[in-house]
Amino acid sequence: MKGTYCLVINVESDSETKVGSLGKLKFEKGHYVYVGSAFNNLENRIARHLKSRKQKHWHVDYLLMSRNAVVEEVFYKQSEKKEECKFAKIISRYGTAVTNFGSSDCDCKGHLFKIDKPGKIEWSANGMRPLLREDLKKRESSTPSR
Ligand SMILES: [Zn+2]
Repeated sequence: MKGTYCLVINVESDSETKVGSLGKLKFEKGHYVYVGSAFNNLENRIARHLKSRKQKHWHVDYLLMSRNAVVEEVFYKQSEKKEECKFAKIISRYGTAVTNFGSSDCDCKGHLFKIDKPGKIEWSANGMRPLLREDLKKRESSTPSR
């Protein structure tokens, strides 16, 4: 499957995490939404994000490796087109971008947003579906780690 995905991340306490080239960033306790896309294998990409041990490749890997960051929900939209930035714009209406996070290859301010009320995001109205954890668990055993 190809497409765009959003991770709803709960940062359980105020923290400071080194995020690759961005250096140390402060994350306030609360919810964040990360927007990404995958054009080879969306399912494997999401499963990878949910693994606790992995090589750090994307900015979001650094955040998710920190012990107090938990992925609470995953939404996705299957599509042939790259819609990551379009979704970043939609999500930006609900929160504040973390500058340069995940947006090294585009003009967006960031692809990670601090969101006060993640429950307000209209996922289905924007074509996003929830991904069930069980779906990923089944795949995880067959996913090669990189
Ligand atoms: Zn972008």
